[in-house]
Amino acid sequence: MNEFDVLVVGAGPSGAEAARALARRGLAVGLVSNSLDSVYRLEEAPAGEAPAGSLLAEVWSGDPWTLHRRAKYALEATAGLHLFQSAVAELLVERGEARGVHTWEGLAYHAGAVVLAVGSFLGAELRSGELREAAGRWGEAAYPELLENLRELGFSFSPEVFRVAASTSRPAYEVRFQRFAAGEWDAGSGRLKRLGRLYAVGQVVTGHAPATARAAAGLWLGNRLEPAVDS
Ligand SMILES: Cc1cc2nc3c(=O)[nH]c(=O)nc-3n(C[C@H](O)[C@H](O)[C@H](O)COP(=O)(O)OP(=O)(O)OC[C@H]3O[C@@H](n4cnc5c(N)ncnc54)[C@H](O)[C@@H]3O)c2cc1C
Repeated sequence: MNEFDVLVVGAGPSGAEAARALARRGLAVGLVSNSLDSVYRLEEAPAGEAPAGSLLAEVWSGDPWTLHRRAKYALEATAGLHLFQSAVAELLVERGEARGVHTWEGLAYHAGAVVLAVGSFLGAELRSGELREAAGRWGEAAYPELLENLRELGFSFSPEVFRVAASTSRPAYEVRFQRFAAGEWDAGSGRLKRLGRLYAVGQVVTGHAPATARAAAGLWLGNRLEPAVDS
């Protein structure tokens, strides 16, 4: 099953909500993420109200681990949505349009549109005391290939730092990562302007916001994105 109407990369709040909303509209959706252990993964309760109609509103019960478990189950049970684990290494580009992705295993997936919802993982480095590792958050590795590919395609980025307070299970840490430079993204459509059929949502394009805002953005994009029909 390597053909989709829309491929969403990253199953955090933004990507999960976008993918589910798209599938509920009857589209064939691939949702690919580095690790299925981190689908809709948060460490703390999200500040603010879960948006009406969101997966978050449906499954939130006051505990982030239960949110991850229920969200993963709900996504897997959504008709038309195929959730799978892999790292996207590069975009498949034809005639100036994003037509799918290549994963690190060398598999190609084709789609009528691609949504990048890769959060804090582009060029990510996690720092805690003396520790330095390539990770987009505590316990989840980040890989360099997609950022390298996007740079080769001409995209520009701005650096971000996100600091996370200590919890009972780990020390305080910070994550340095790259997000798309402001001029690359059109907030009105969710499109990345440099290529056709390419969209982005969430932390990879906007500054700091709680997960409820990510959920709202993903839902918004999933409810309006119209994938091009392949010729
Ligand atoms: C370290 C950190 C901790 C945070 N903790 C919280 C919190 O506890 N509560 C809260 O309300 N807000 C928190 N925030 C703020 C923000 O709301 C969350 O980060 C939110 O999860 C961002 O949502 P997102 O969907 O944009 O990206 P993310 O949730 O980061 O999801 C991105 C997903 O994309 C996947 N991915 C990345 N690159 C690839 C690739 N090449 N191929 C395949 N998959 C890929 C990753 O594995 C990840 O699952 C945190 C932010 C950071 C940076």
